[in-house]
Amino acid sequence: MRNATPQVRDDSHRGGLQVLQGEVPSAARMPKGCRFHPRCPLAFDRCRQEEPPNIQVGPQHMAACWLAK
Ligand code: SF4
Repeated sequence: MRNATPQVRDDSHRGGLQVLQGEVPSAARMPKGCRFHPRCPLAFDRCRQEEPPNIQVGPQHMAACWLAK
């Protein structure tokens, strides 16, 4: 019998969860460029100016990031 109880998984060998700094922007005042740039540790100048397009990176996987290939 299956239930919906979440299972705790030990991810410590993968470095655990990364806590992002900063605050989620207001939906009424989205930042220019990539909406994630104020909190992204990889952001660079282009991210602050231009919104990245959605590109397909896998069979059912889209990404909107200038670094996605
Ligand atoms: S485009 Fe990619 S690298 Fe740039 S801020 Fe957004 S998520 Fe980060």
